[in-house]
Amino acid sequence: MSDPSPSETCLFCRLVAGDVPAEVVHTSDGSVAFRDINPQAPTHVLVVPREHHANAVELATQAPEALADLVRVADAVAEAEGLAGDYRLVFNTGAGAGQTVFHTHLHLLGGRPLTWPPG
Ligand code: AMP
Ligand code: ZN
Repeated sequence: MSDPSPSETCLFCRLVAGDVPAEVVHTSDGSVAFRDINPQAPTHVLVVPREHHANAVELATQAPEALADLVRVADAVAEAEGLAGDYRLVFNTGAGAGQTVFHTHLHLLGGRPLTWPPG
């Protein structure tokens, strides 16, 4: 028997399908944006491609337009949240960098002073 597909096992595939509840703030043909369940800033939104790709470089390689759409959606959410162009976008890639969900997601953080470098 083949392995179960990500649509059944992946948290963010299930969220995109509507099988896991989320506070969705923006959608496009290719992306869904929703509030992080454990926010690290007043605005902490995750933008995910509707299709499963494990990390940012897989998305960039396999579907570059979908990667561009994540950034455009993140900017639209930032605008709607009143961040006035002041925000941080983060892709954690690999467990050592803090990636815990292996369906790539762009973190949009803003609404407070953001220190650099991040921890
Ligand atoms: P990362 O550590 O970069 O893989 O980010 C995963 C993010 O997903 C974390 O910030 C979690 O708080 C967030 N998260 C996990 N489960 C959910 C969920 N069901 N709804 C919204 N955000 C979630
Ligand atoms: Zn997935």
